[in-house]
Amino acid sequence: MANISDQQSEITLRPTVAKINLSHLSHNLEIIKHQINGSKIMAIVKANAYGHGLVPVAQHLAQQGVEQLGVAFLEEGVSLRKSGIQLPILVLGGILNTQIQYFLDFDLEITVSSIDKLRQVEEVAVVKKKKAVIHLKIDTGMERLGVHSYSAGPFIEAAVRSKQCVVKGVYSHLACADDPKSPMTLEQMERFFEMLLHFERLQVPTPVRHLANSGGVLHFPQTHLDMVRPGIILYGIYPDMASHRILDVKPVLSLCSRVVYFKVVQPGRPISYGATWQSDHMIRVVTIPIGYGDGYCRSLSNRGEVLIGGTRYPIVGRVCMDQFMVNLEDGSAYNGDEVVLIGMQNGEMLTVEDMAEKAGTIPYEILTRFNNRIPRVYVQ
Ligand SMILES: *Cc1c(COP(=O)(O)O)cnc(C)c1O
Repeated sequence: MANISDQQSEITLRPTVAKINLSHLSHNLEIIKHQINGSKIMAIVKANAYGHGLVPVAQHLAQQGVEQLGVAFLEEGVSLRKSGIQLPILVLGGILNTQIQYFLDFDLEITVSSIDKLRQVEEVAVVKKKKAVIHLKIDTGMERLGVHSYSAGPFIEAAVRSKQCVVKGVYSHLACADDPKSPMTLEQMERFFEMLLHFERLQVPTPVRHLANSGGVLHFPQTHLDMVRPGIILYGIYPDMASHRILDVKPVLSLCSRVVYFKVVQPGRPISYGATWQSDHMIRVVTIPIGYGDGYCRSLSNRGEVLIGGTRYPIVGRVCMDQFMVNLEDGSAYNGDEVVLIGMQNGEMLTVEDMAEKAGTIPYEILTRFNNRIPRVYVQ
């Protein structure tokens, strides 16, 4: 009769797993700390910690001494609180009136991006008899959220005068920092510093200033200020092909599966949906149990690669919802053999960056697409 531990072992017997290397995460954090010399760290764990698993990653980062966590949505902050995380948590995204009460209930810091939102937060705080901890969002060029830096004076004044709100931070987001040569970042910095003068003018202490995402951490030391907000670089991945590889970060996630089927395919017999690929000679083909239903990009059809026995082999035919096929040519593999989709095998390596390029997207999307059909296994 199956008990709970049997069920667990059945779950971990799913041949496809994402291995999350927590020592690499610690290593990356140390390297980033060294790079920012003295600024605090708000570790960004939105989108299931970039696919690495929200709660386990947050718990590990909390043990490693990050000062703060950042998430995109209220729900993510609530999950962290329900799992017992006590660090300060900033929700970076825009908010709706109906959500404000939950920020106060769960002790989450609020991004306030207009005078109107400030007033709404104040109203709820009065009713709840609580102070709201807020960060002011200033738009210096991203045109996404926040009060434009050139008209931020009245907004900042209203916020610092507010009796219900504690202005803990003031921040902006960089649009082009992953490219060290982009002049945009310098413009955004200039606008940010000019906006900060309002605090001096009002003769109030300047709150915690934060501006740098991974690109800022890597390329623009002047953006490090009081706190940095690294996301993808924490997970050991560079934000862009143009980024300078100046930090020795290590990829935290690797993705493995196993061969579940082997066959010989005759010349002229097309493979998978749409019959988009066929060989003109006899080949050996294996089937791998992962597909776009797991978040593995369908755009890797006829483009992606895997490692089996330390050799790179191409995906042939379309990626299906739950499986895809790989051409071994005259190579060999057996049912149950390990297949590496991201990571190292016998000295060969497949990176998230390569996969993103082949799939016509960015590493961020590759990582965040992996869904909860793929078990995460945490290794030290
Ligand atoms: C996602 C996000 C970050 C982290 O970005 P990375 O490029 O992954 O470092 C930082 N700040 C804000 C506001 C974000 O939305």
